[in-house]
Amino acid sequence: MRDTALMQMALGLTPPWTVIGSDFDAEAGRIDIQIDFPAGSRFACPSCGAAGCPPHDTERKSWRHLNFFQHQAYLSARVPRVRCDKCGIRTISVPWSRPDSGFTLLFEAMVMTMVSAMPVKAVARMIGEHDTRLWRVVHHYVDAARARLDASDVTRVAIDETAAQRGHNYITLCVDIDQSRVLFATEGRDASTIAAFADDLAAHGGDPEAISEVCIDMSAAFIKGVGEKLPKAAITFDKFHAVRIVNDAVDLVRRAEQKRESLLRGTRYIWLRNPDNLSERQRETLDELPTRHLKTGRAYQIRLAFQDLYRQPTEAAVAYLRKWYFWATHSRLDPMIEAARTIKRHWDGILRWFDSKIANGLIEGINSLVQAAKAKARGYRSMRNLKAMIYLLAGKLDLRLPA
Ligand SMILES: [Zn+2]
Repeated sequence: MRDTALMQMALGLTPPWTVIGSDFDAEAGRIDIQIDFPAGSRFACPSCGAAGCPPHDTERKSWRHLNFFQHQAYLSARVPRVRCDKCGIRTISVPWSRPDSGFTLLFEAMVMTMVSAMPVKAVARMIGEHDTRLWRVVHHYVDAARARLDASDVTRVAIDETAAQRGHNYITLCVDIDQSRVLFATEGRDASTIAAFADDLAAHGGDPEAISEVCIDMSAAFIKGVGEKLPKAAITFDKFHAVRIVNDAVDLVRRAEQKRESLLRGTRYIWLRNPDNLSERQRETLDELPTRHLKTGRAYQIRLAFQDLYRQPTEAAVAYLRKWYFWATHSRLDPMIEAARTIKRHWDGILRWFDSKIANGLIEGINSLVQAAKAKARGYRSMRNLKAMIYLLAGKLDLRLPA
C-alpha cells in the first residue's frame, strides 16, 4: 500500500477528496498532508444543496490536525468556490473541518476534551496554539449546544450569585434543580438578571410562568426580579443564607464585646462554627469560657437554635420560629435583634423550605464545577469566556463533538 493510500484511509476521506502527497519536516517536527480533487470533479452547492456544481476557482487552505505520533500534523487543500445556477458563486465546506476554523473537526474534538480537564491556557501551551484560537473553538461548540438546549420541563430553579475572578464582578447562576444543571449564567446580580433568565428560558422552550419554586438569597433585587418575571414561583429563602445572617450577628456581638473582654481574644472562629466542627483545642477553649455570662455566648446559643429550625417537623416549624423570634428580639443584643427582624421580614420564604425542601446547597456539586470553571478560565479576563466554561462544565450540554 502506498503511504498516500494509507493516509487516505486513516483520514476517512471520500471521493473526490484524495491524498496526493505528504512532507515530513524532521527539524520542525511537522508533517504536511496534501489533499486534492481530480480535474472534472463536481460539488454540491453549500447553500441550496444542488449537486454537480463545477468549481469556479480555488483557494489554498490548511488545517491543524491531530498529532502524527509526536509531530504536529497539517492538512492542506485547494478549496473550490463553485458556480451554482441558482445561488451564484459559493465556497464549499470541506468534510473534515468547519468553515474558517483552521482546525480539523477531530482536532477540535480533542481541544474540547482537553479544556474540560485543564485550564485553557495550559492546553494552549501544551499543543502550541494561542489560547484565543482555542476559546473560539470553545465558544462555537458551547453556543451551538446552548442553541439546542431544551428547557421545556423546568419548574424548580435555584438562583445564586458568585464572584467572578478578581474585582467586584458578579455572575448570577440560574440552576435547574431537578436536572442539576446550570441553565443560565449572566453578569451582575440585580433584578435585571432574573429578567434576562426569563427571556432565555422562553427562548429555549421554557415558560417563566411554569416555574413554581425558586430558591434565592434574601437580596431585594432577586425578590423583585422573581416577583416580576417568575410570577407563579413560590420563593424559598436559601437556608444557608438565612443562617449566615444570624451568624454574622454573632460575629458583630463578639467584636463589640471583645473590646472589653480579653477572654474572647482569638475565639472568632469558634463562634462561627458549629460545635460538631470544632477542633479539640477550640472545644476546650469553648468549654473553659464562662459562656453563659458572655453576650457572645448567648448570641451563639441563639444562632444554634435558629439552625435547629431546620430540624423541626413541618407541623412544629411555625411555632418554633415564633419562639425563636421572641427570644432573639428580647436578647438585648442589637445585632441579633436586627438579624431577627430581617428573618421576620422574610418569614414566609423561610418557612417555605418546609414545603419545598430546596436550598442552594442542593447545588453544591454545581458550585464546585463553577469553581473549577473559574480556574479553567483564569488568566483570560472575559466574562464571556467564564460563562462559556461554566456552561461547558456545569451545563450538561449536548456538545455533539465529532467522533
Ligand atoms: Zn445553490
